[in-house]
Amino acid sequence: FAEQVIEAAVTALEKSYDLEHGTGRGEQLRELADTDPLTGCANRRVLDQRLREELDRARRYTQVVTVVLFDVDDFKRVNDTYGHQAGDRVLKQLAFLLRHELRTMDFLARYGGEEFVVVLPETGGIGARLFTDRILRRVQLHNFGDSAFPVSVTVSAGLATFPDDRVADDESLMRLADENLYKAKRAGRNRYRD
Ligand code: GH3
Ligand code: MG
Ligand code: MG
Repeated sequence: FAEQVIEAAVTALEKSYDLEHGTGRGEQLRELADTDPLTGCANRRVLDQRLREELDRARRYTQVVTVVLFDVDDFKRVNDTYGHQAGDRVLKQLAFLLRHELRTMDFLARYGGEEFVVVLPETGGIGARLFTDRILRRVQLHNFGDSAFPVSVTVSAGLATFPDDRVADDESLMRLADENLYKAKRAGRNRYRD
């Protein structure tokens, strides 16, 4: 319901801004509503739209699409040890690192506090594993602090690929990714499951 209200409000504001100021302002407003301010990533609302579109497309053209749900390992400890601001810097740098690995057709969103989702269109299990493996290694090797105060973090990931017997829509796709993330966590973190 909140999503619908926001969507309606943004559309109304866009229209009134465009009327008042000529076109262009509405676009800025839209970008603000669609973007997570800390990391510059798309937010969850945009992700939901995008996922539905990608699934529609995959169905129509009998293609595959994979989502990868990343979650920072022991992030609470990162905040407790280095402070909340250092935690924020980790999230910013992680978003930067992820963005750097994407192809133009891929899509990155901040899913929650320390969780990110990458949508990989036209990518099945094998390609997604290679992608995720690369990310996990890059993150593990990256210094999220500076030379005086190095900060290391790892991430875990859950993969879900459409088509799959367990996946009917965007919700069940994300649920499967979440279940696999949970398995990766239980298996010891700094790994993925699919
Ligand atoms: P796990 O390995 O099981 O994922 O452990 P975890 O500590 O990462 O898991 P948990 O979900 O318990 O903790 C997530 C923490 O992320 C708690 C919250 O304070 C922190 N967090 C969420 N959003 C932000 C943010 O925007 N900035 C900072 N600095 N911390 C955040
Ligand atoms: Mg989490
Ligand atoms: Mg976590």
